[in-house]
Amino acid sequence: MDFQITEYAIEEAMKLHRNNPAADAHLDLAGEVLLRKQRGEKDIVKNYYLPYFRAGGIRLVVSSVYVETGNLEHGWENALAQIGALQEDVKGLAEVTLIKSRRDLEELLEGDRIGILLYMEGLDCIGEDLEKLTELYNLGVRGASLTWSRPNALGTGCCKALEHRQISGGLSKTGVQAVKKLEQLSMFLDVSHLNDDGFEEVCRIAERSFTATHSGSRQVYDSYRNLTDEQVRALARQGGVMGMNGCKYIAGSQEGNHLEMLCRHIEYEIKLAGNGHVGYGFDLCDSYGRARAALKGEQYTDRDDCLLDHSQVPLVSAALLQRGMAQEEVKEIMGGSFIRYFKDILPGG
Ligand SMILES: [Zn+2]
Repeated sequence: MDFQITEYAIEEAMKLHRNNPAADAHLDLAGEVLLRKQRGEKDIVKNYYLPYFRAGGIRLVVSSVYVETGNLEHGWENALAQIGALQEDVKGLAEVTLIKSRRDLEELLEGDRIGILLYMEGLDCIGEDLEKLTELYNLGVRGASLTWSRPNALGTGCCKALEHRQISGGLSKTGVQAVKKLEQLSMFLDVSHLNDDGFEEVCRIAERSFTATHSGSRQVYDSYRNLTDEQVRALARQGGVMGMNGCKYIAGSQEGNHLEMLCRHIEYEIKLAGNGHVGYGFDLCDSYGRARAALKGEQYTDRDDCLLDHSQVPLVSAALLQRGMAQEEVKEIMGGSFIRYFKDILPGG
């Protein structure tokens, strides 16, 4: 699929992935589970994801609850339906734990289960009602980004990312309060879809560290979904972690150089931010795309993801090793950094 990775590098990476937890800080899992349930499917995580998580040594997955633009009119109901669908889907699954606290995460790592951490990708669905953040917390949701790419009552997203233009405007008053409320609730804040003005404001007001779960470097590939050098440094200064996005439109890759582009983003960010602030947040969405198309009776033929599935995550680690990165550094990137971040940010339990 890409530049030639040696057997040796793959073996070394597989060893790392067998012996150390890997994490993916962004996957639209709850939405896909709901779409597939609406088609009458069952055991979605078990059938579509678990074998690949296992093969890739993935131990922690951050599942977004993302309300599509077409569902915004009933956004709150849709968000609750996604949360309920995912919880029901994994209820009887002995191999999966929903992570709600630091203790959950610590216990997870002592055993061999796979943890799923729920968070809101955009808070359009709460309007200006910040009490709904408490409701979400009570349902087990442990983080949020204020906006997806579109504007909402809390702020403005990095609109029209593919057209290379942004709409200016920072957070609204309620958006500022939302940051404070998230911090009070020990929920993590994701800035991945926020625009530059909003990012700057978050830097000014956030007292806890925040994350960009699925963004690359704007210097490596010029998309408004990616972070400027200044933003990468600011996020790291505050103790945050950024997850490398594996969608080709954001990584800027094409068939033949997916792995190379992922490595270039990661290596660039590591140089700027230092180790401990960069991880994986692959945002793999082809499976979601297939689920949505199937519900409409259509065929999904796109290939937007740099990786086919999570069993290929060790290939990224292998590519980093082959390009000269030290094992200790790769360990941090493949999971160490995000696990430490979430242990730090989640409520104690
Ligand atoms: Zn996203």
